[in-house]
Amino acid sequence: MHIHWFRRDLRLTDNTSLHAALADDTDIVPVYILSEWKKSHRWTGPGRQQFLCGCLESLSANIATLGGRLIIRQGDPVEVLRKLIRETRATGLHTNRDPDPHGRKTEQSVAEMCADEGCAWFAHQDVAIHERDEVRTGTGGVFRVFTPYSRAWRKLDKPTLRRAPRTLRTPADIISLPLPTLATWGLSDPGLKLITPGERAARDRLKQFLSAPLFRYGTVRNLPAEDGGSRLSQDLRWGLLSAREVYGKCQEAAEKGTALERDSANLFITELIWREFYQQLLWHHPEVLDRNFSPKYERVEWREDEKAFERWARGETGFPIVDAAMRQLNTTGYMHNRLRMITAMFLTKDLHIHWLQGERYFAQNLLDGEIASNNGGWQWSAGTGADAAPYFRIQNPWTQTARFDVKGAFIKKWLPELVGVDPKKFAEPPADGKSLAPGYPLPMVDHARERDLTLQFFKKGLAE
Ligand code: FAD
Repeated sequence: MHIHWFRRDLRLTDNTSLHAALADDTDIVPVYILSEWKKSHRWTGPGRQQFLCGCLESLSANIATLGGRLIIRQGDPVEVLRKLIRETRATGLHTNRDPDPHGRKTEQSVAEMCADEGCAWFAHQDVAIHERDEVRTGTGGVFRVFTPYSRAWRKLDKPTLRRAPRTLRTPADIISLPLPTLATWGLSDPGLKLITPGERAARDRLKQFLSAPLFRYGTVRNLPAEDGGSRLSQDLRWGLLSAREVYGKCQEAAEKGTALERDSANLFITELIWREFYQQLLWHHPEVLDRNFSPKYERVEWREDEKAFERWARGETGFPIVDAAMRQLNTTGYMHNRLRMITAMFLTKDLHIHWLQGERYFAQNLLDGEIASNNGGWQWSAGTGADAAPYFRIQNPWTQTARFDVKGAFIKKWLPELVGVDPKKFAEPPADGKSLAPGYPLPMVDHARERDLTLQFFKKGLAE
């Protein structure tokens, strides 16, 4: 009998490891191991854990319809899996490889434990279509820049999909903990408007996206009021859908479309490639989790200003686009991509606060919190990363508003106190020095001044 260890692959369809574990025998032990931390964690928060609980509930129900049982255990994966191997006399342990440094370290320890226990260890490629060392430069090097990486990525053959298993049995005598709740980690309900968790909901989202929005993606993806993105990021993060399936179905739909529609689908695929680009960067440069990807920026000065950070986090900066975006994040656990760039640039270039602080806040509040993409996005915005916006290209939140929320529809949705305000006023600092509405703050900084300061900080850091 084999064990399949679920981690960030909470689905039955096109699951490489699950499929391999079931290859010889329909009797398997599908297990999920709960972590033991309490109250707070660098890489996650209550909303994300609540989403995880919903995904596990759905996975457990789906496994039950096939005739099996999802086994829940808790603790250090090495010891939990050792015990499970002994209890079940499993001869093989399968999992899908994790691209993050922590997951990678755990896998090494589990592999050693399996060798001790005489259990075969199988770590499968699944999270990315092309992972780790697959996409290489002509001379075998690692790409540091996105465009040539994406060209090489596109040239590689793509893997085929695997169907969901039809049947699966789990021996009755294996005990399981109950499904987790927020109390498992000592957390309380954050009261978020959560997107529906689970494989079926993710599949519905993909179907809906392919039915038409994919073909508009190219024109509306930058407009937060239009909701032009796929909203699949949490599904890819938790493996409710495989990246192979999203890519494959998107290609299939594009082939039937017009030239314009194919261009739109192509832009979407480029975003899927960004996800894998950041994963391979993290694989080759795990040090980016604690410092700048470009060491030349190590001497740039950042400010410690807890009050300013809190105003940013709460969405009380007096910059309507920044505040609306942060309120979207704090209410739903999601933020539109364009706004992630605007808010990240604001924190790093207008408030001069280190990107590490913003990265942590996003990781703790995004349902799709993905270590590689989040780190990549923050370092890109701060100007310290691979293929980053150069430090002197600083987005202006006022002009960004004029370009991407012309009618102020997004701002008004999230800042009801500004509903009656002329949207033109969202795109410039208040000329008369008066607040836009009672209770709404004045801009906390002068963008032009802070921009000059950023240039000074970077130039000084580079000169030292
Ligand atoms: P779509 O536009 O529909 O894109 C499709 C998919 O491609 C996404 O679901 C995602 O998996 C991937 N993708 C899209 N853009 C990027 C990108 N720039 N980098 C890497 N992958 C991308 N994405 C995360 O999944 N998790 C994060 O923690 C995360 N943090 C970010 C932090 C910052 C500062 C920035 C600038 C970007 C971050 N992103 C992150 C990338 C991007 O903002 C989100 O993936 C996107 O907003 C999710 O919405 P969507 O599913 O509608 O995306």
